[in-house]
Amino acid sequence: MKRLRHVPLVVSSTYAVAGALWIYFSSRVLASLVPSAAGRTFWETVKGWGFIVVTTVLLYLLLWAYVRKILGAEKELAAEKDECRAAREALEESEAQFSLMFAKHSAIMYLVDPDSLSIIEVNEAARAFYGYTAAEFAELRLTALDTARDVEVQAFAREALRGGEKLRVAKHRLAGGEVRAVEIRVTPIHLTRREFLFVIATDITEREKADQEMKEALSLLAATLEATADGIFVRDPAGRIVICNRKFATMWRLPETILATQNDRQLRLFVLDQLKDPDRFLEITEASYAHGDSESCDIIEFKDGRVFERVSKPQVVGEIVVGRVISYRDITERRSLESQLRQSQKLEAIGTLAGGIAHDFNNLLTAIVGYATLMQMRMEEENPLRHQVNQILAATDRAAALTKSLLAYSRRQVSDPAPVDLNAIIREIEALLLRLLPANIVCRQELADVPLTILADAGQLEQALMNLTVNARDAMPSGGELVVSTEEFSMNAAYIAIHGYGKPGRYALLSVTDSGSGMDEDTRERIFEPFFTTKETGKGTGLGLAMVYNIVKQHGGFISVASEPGTGTTFRIYLPLMETAVRLAESRDTRPVAEGSETILVMEDDEPVRQLLRDVLESNGYAVIEAVDGVDGVEKFARHKDEIHLVLTDIMMPHKSGCAAYEEIRSMGTDVRTIFMTGYSAALRETIVGQGDMVLTKPVLPKALLAKVRAVLDGDVTAT
Ligand code: ADP
Ligand code: MG
Repeated sequence: MKRLRHVPLVVSSTYAVAGALWIYFSSRVLASLVPSAAGRTFWETVKGWGFIVVTTVLLYLLLWAYVRKILGAEKELAAEKDECRAAREALEESEAQFSLMFAKHSAIMYLVDPDSLSIIEVNEAARAFYGYTAAEFAELRLTALDTARDVEVQAFAREALRGGEKLRVAKHRLAGGEVRAVEIRVTPIHLTRREFLFVIATDITEREKADQEMKEALSLLAATLEATADGIFVRDPAGRIVICNRKFATMWRLPETILATQNDRQLRLFVLDQLKDPDRFLEITEASYAHGDSESCDIIEFKDGRVFERVSKPQVVGEIVVGRVISYRDITERRSLESQLRQSQKLEAIGTLAGGIAHDFNNLLTAIVGYATLMQMRMEEENPLRHQVNQILAATDRAAALTKSLLAYSRRQVSDPAPVDLNAIIREIEALLLRLLPANIVCRQELADVPLTILADAGQLEQALMNLTVNARDAMPSGGELVVSTEEFSMNAAYIAIHGYGKPGRYALLSVTDSGSGMDEDTRERIFEPFFTTKETGKGTGLGLAMVYNIVKQHGGFISVASEPGTGTTFRIYLPLMETAVRLAESRDTRPVAEGSETILVMEDDEPVRQLLRDVLESNGYAVIEAVDGVDGVEKFARHKDEIHLVLTDIMMPHKSGCAAYEEIRSMGTDVRTIFMTGYSAALRETIVGQGDMVLTKPVLPKALLAKVRAVLDGDVTAT
């Protein structure tokens, strides 16, 4: 366009010069060519018209080109202008959009002056979050919002300005005073030839709280895991151990190296050879892993006797199984207690049965022995029937021994506890034991140096020892060694925890060890059961150890057995030691049959027994008043109060028991002496029997009866 500015001057000057030159030269040329003036005028006119035509054409061309150029330039200009406007409009629109976005964005945003750190521009979210108005913000600095020290905030701003975007977790104070955790992201930006800091803040208070809660939940989980008595481990579907507690490691005796692998498979490989039935363990384990969402529960038995209960449950998040929680509980002790309980219940039942039979049988025996004895007493020395009677008495002796062993199962066993030295019992019975053993069995005694005084029925202990000796002999058919030893033993809580039985205290420990065949576990578990025997019919009754067991129980003791096939057997019997070791003088009844003339009230419901008692007493000079039960007895006593010197009563009777009758008789104000007869507990002695009274155990033997009657009447209560 600038170039066009000179065009008018150039064109008009050129025109003027060209015109002048044309007029001058054409006139001279014409003057020389056309001599006549008329001719010259004509050509002058043609020349003038020609000039006009030429210049007009030229002018037209010039103007035409000129105008075209100008029009083109104008069009260009207009297009340029349009473009410019569009660009400006776009800019304005995007600016509006940006500021709208800034204003309305849900993120908390503001602009900060990097020098003063004052807040220049805030969006709605920032105002809503901090609770300040735009005017209040104008007065604020970033340092006022941040609870950190000013220098810290300033340093952070400087760093952001220098190094680009920066992140920081801060505590910001809101208008209401509340402090919240925010994560602030600061970016330097350049606006209108100035630098600013653009801040985006995120409220992370809830997130931090959730983090904290998560940490607490995790520590609670860890503490709970460690506090439980169960061994627990969690595995993910890939077989990695996600978490496990220390108890788990100790229960399974896992070394650190195995735990460190965090691999469930390694763990399984390690434990397999500790198990009794590894195949079953693997089968159940794999089945439970295969059916990810099912629960399972099983029992795991170890070779060393430990028993675990395993519960395996899926760990489910939403609907998805993300792992399994497997917990192991050590139920070894529970198992052994259960089996002990079962055992004692079984023995109890048998005992009740045996006791019942023995009780009735004793009454019959009393009659048989009694009459046979009467016959024997009345027979002449040379009576041919005497031999038969002796045979009857010998047989009844054996029958009495049998009922005694039957009663040994029942708790109601008649026993005569007295303080005795366990060592003395063993020494006394030694000769007898040796007689039981063949020559190829060596018997050794290792007795404690100190006396082991226990409150015991010596006869029963002898019986127990004999049973153990016989069993040991049977277990050593081709010879061996039998060791009977005693020692003092102190049972403490640790011992009880390990063995699952016992009561703290001091005990006399009697051990009987043989080098015989030993027993496998199945046998070991059942040996104390009555009628359990591995011996061929006719050889074993299966009552020996049952009896030993009961005898030990009645003495408040414990029995244990240690045995492996091929290595022999040790029975250990723990009997509570007496606190004060008093040894009562033994007294044996060596006196001759005692007679008398007093009147005796006999209360007995069993007719044959009552008759026998009367016969025995009357034939030895006593007068007898009979009563058929307690009611009858009390009535007869009331009637003959003054004549009666002694009451002889059965304890178990219909209508009124011997004890009840005794109480009533006592309440009549007399202190008549009483003898109780029973097949049952000697404990009665302590509970109901008064000074000067007696308990007579059934079957009542005539001589013993007469001796006791005499003794009681004479007031000699120590007689037995
Ligand atoms: P019995 O001797 O009549 O068989 P027991 O009750 O005395 O009945 O014993 C039961 C079983 O316990 C025996 O059959 C035997 O298998 C086993 N037993 C007992 N003592 C021993 C021992 N010392 N060594 C090996 N086995 C024994
Ligand atoms: Mg036996």
